[in-house]
Amino acid sequence: MRETRSTCPYCGVGCGVIIESEGAQITGVRGDPEHPANFGRLCSKGSTLHLSATPVVLQTRRLLQPLQRLERGAAPQPLAWDAAAEQVAERLAAVRAAHGPDAIGFYISGQLLTEDYHAFNKLARALVGTNNIDSNSRLCMSSAVSGYKQALGADAPPASYQDIEQADCLFIAGANPAWAHPILFRRIEAAREARPHSKIIVVDPRRTETAELADLHLQILPGTDIALFNGMLHACVWEGWIAADFIAQHTEGFDALKALVRSSTPAWAAKTCGIKEEQLLEAARLFAASPATLSLYCMGLNQSSRGTAKNTALINLHLATGQIGRAGAGPFSLTGQPNAMGGREAGGMATLLPGHRDPASAADRAEIARLWGVEALPETPGKTAVELFEAAARGEIKALWIACTNPAQSMPEQALVRAALAACEFVVLQEAFADTATAAYADLLLPAATWGEKDGTVTNSERRISRVRAAVPPPGQARADWAIVSDIARRLEQRLRPGAATSLFAFDTPEQLWLEHREATRGRDLDISGLSWALLDAQGPQQWPYPEGAGAGRQRLYEDGRFATANGRARFVAKPHGPAAEGCDARHPLTLSTGRMRDQWHGMSRSGTVDRLFESEPQPALRMNPQDLLRRHLKSGELVRVRSRRGELLLPLQADDAVGPAQAWLPMHWGDEFIGGRDARGVPLRGVNALTQPRFCPDSRQPELKYSAVRVEPV
Ligand code: SF4
Repeated sequence: MRETRSTCPYCGVGCGVIIESEGAQITGVRGDPEHPANFGRLCSKGSTLHLSATPVVLQTRRLLQPLQRLERGAAPQPLAWDAAAEQVAERLAAVRAAHGPDAIGFYISGQLLTEDYHAFNKLARALVGTNNIDSNSRLCMSSAVSGYKQALGADAPPASYQDIEQADCLFIAGANPAWAHPILFRRIEAAREARPHSKIIVVDPRRTETAELADLHLQILPGTDIALFNGMLHACVWEGWIAADFIAQHTEGFDALKALVRSSTPAWAAKTCGIKEEQLLEAARLFAASPATLSLYCMGLNQSSRGTAKNTALINLHLATGQIGRAGAGPFSLTGQPNAMGGREAGGMATLLPGHRDPASAADRAEIARLWGVEALPETPGKTAVELFEAAARGEIKALWIACTNPAQSMPEQALVRAALAACEFVVLQEAFADTATAAYADLLLPAATWGEKDGTVTNSERRISRVRAAVPPPGQARADWAIVSDIARRLEQRLRPGAATSLFAFDTPEQLWLEHREATRGRDLDISGLSWALLDAQGPQQWPYPEGAGAGRQRLYEDGRFATANGRARFVAKPHGPAAEGCDARHPLTLSTGRMRDQWHGMSRSGTVDRLFESEPQPALRMNPQDLLRRHLKSGELVRVRSRRGELLLPLQADDAVGPAQAWLPMHWGDEFIGGRDARGVPLRGVNALTQPRFCPDSRQPELKYSAVRVEPV
C-alpha cells in the first residue's frame, strides 16, 4: 500500500488528507495529523473521499475519453485526444476571426488548482485576448473580495484559524460552519470548552446547529444584516465603546459613517431586523468590549445584491472598535470552495489579474503582459458569471469553455443559463464526471483528472498554501486540467501567433506554471517569492505572504496598524440598509433561502456517488416554520408546489421550527432529482435554481442566491 499526502477537495477549510492506494486504485483516506488546518480530523465528506473513486464509480460516473456531439441532443461519440484538441483550437480560432476575442468566454471553478487557474487565465487573456474569464467563485466569495478591497485595501483575510482559539467573542454572521465547515466547527467547540468565559454570537435567520452553540442568537429577518451592523455601530458610538485612538491613527472616513449611522438607532435597527433591542445592545457590547472579537462570515453576507455593503458594514464594526490586527481579533471570511483563494491569487476572474492586480489598471495590465511575454493584455472589461451567460443568451458570446463546474445546475435562474448554453455555437466542457446537467449541452467533452490524480497547490481560507498530490494515474484518457489547457493553447498559438519563436505554454509540469504564478506575486500583498514546492514538501503548508528571505509566512495581517491602502489607513465605508433586489408581495409572500447540507457538496457530482452521504438527508425537502404550515392548512411530508417569479418545483414539505416565520429554506445540492419543475413559460426544469434569481451586487457582481420571493401551494 502506498500513502500520499494531499488535501481534501471539498471545502475551504483545506484539511490535509493521507490517501491510501494500491496500484492504480485509491483504497482509503484518513486525516493528516501534521496538517495545521485539521490535525488529522476529517468530516463525513472528507473521510469518504475514497468511496468516490471506487472501480464502480470510475466505470459508471467518470468521463473517461473525449466525446463529441455531432448534433445537439444526440448521444456523444468518442474521438481521439488529438482530434478533440485540434477541434477546440480550430473552433476558437474561427469564432475569434469572425466575431472577435470577446465572443469567447471561459467559465471555470474554485475546485481547480492554482496551476489550472493560471493556465486558463493566460490562455484567455494573453492568447485569445479577452477578459471574459470568470469562475464559480463569483457565486461564493466575490463580495468578500470587494469588501476587503474597499475597506482594507487588499483581498487578504487578516486572521487565521489559530485566532479562533484566542478569541473572547466569536461573531458568526451568515455562516453555518457546523454544516459548511465541519472541521472548523470542531475547533470552535474545542475553543469554547478550553475558554468557557468566551462568548459566541450567531447572526442567522435560521436556528442552525451553529446557532444552537451560541450564547446569543440574533435571528434576524433575511436581508437585514446592514441594519443590524449599523445599529450595533450606533450603539458603540453613543455608548462610548469605540476605539477613538485606533480610529484617529489608522482609519479614514469615520465622520461620514458616524453621520450615516446616527439614524440607525438600536430601536430602529432591532425593529427592522425583527429582534429585541436588548439583544442588539448586548451584541454590540460584547463585540466592542471583549478583549478580542473575531468575526467568521460566509454566504449569508456574500450571496446578496448588497453583498459588498454587508461585508464592509461588518468590517466597519471591527475598525471602529479596534478589533483587528491582534490575536483573536479581526474580520475573517470563510471560503466555500477548496481553492477560491488560489483562484483569486492567480487572477482567474473577470475583475482580477494575477497577484491581486486590477484589469482596469493600465499599469497592472502592463506588468502582467511583461511577465507573460506578450505585448499587451485586453482592456475591455470581462463579463462576470451572470453577465457571461446573459451575453451568451443574447448571442454575443459564441463559444464557451467550461471547466470543473456545472452551471446548468448551480447558476441562478437556471432557465436563462440553459438557454444561453443552447444558443452558443460551441460549448466545450472539461469535466471529471460524465453525467452533470451541463454535459447535456456540450458539443465537446474533455475528460479531466480529479482529486487523487493530479498535482498542484490550493490555498485555504486562512491564506495557507497546501500541496495537492496525485496518488494514482487518471483513469481512462483523463488528463490534468493544466495539461489539457496547455495542449490546446499550443495548437491555438499556431493559428494566432504563427512563427512565434517560443510558446507561451511551454509547460511540462504543473510546478512550471506555479513558478510563473509565483513571479506575479513578487512585491505584492500576497508575495510568495520565498516559497517553493521543495519547501512546501519539506516543511508542509505555509501561509502567505511569504516573501523571499522571510523564513516563515505571516499568521496575522495589519498587526502594525498599517493597511494595504495607498496611505496605509483603513477606510470606513458608509452604506445604508436597503431592500433586497426582489421584494415579497401578496402573490409571493415568502422569502426563500438556499444552503448547504452537512453531508453533501455543491451539485453532488462527487458526493452524490457515495451512498453513505445520503443517510442523513436522502432527498430534498422545503423547510418551513410549523406555524406557516398551520396557517396554510399544509402538513409535513405533503407534496407542495413552490413558485417563484421564474419557475416552480414540486417538493415534499418539512415542518422545521428552526426556519423563521414567512420564510422557506431549501438545500442547494439537488438538481435533476427534483420532479415536476418548470420555468415561467412551462419549459421543464429541475433543481433549486429553477427558483433563484440572478440579480447581483453592483460592486462584487455576486448574485443574490439567499433571497428569492416564493409562494407555496398544495398540489
Ligand atoms: Fe474536507 Fe472541509 Fe470536511 Fe475538511 S471540513 S474534511 S476540507 S469537507
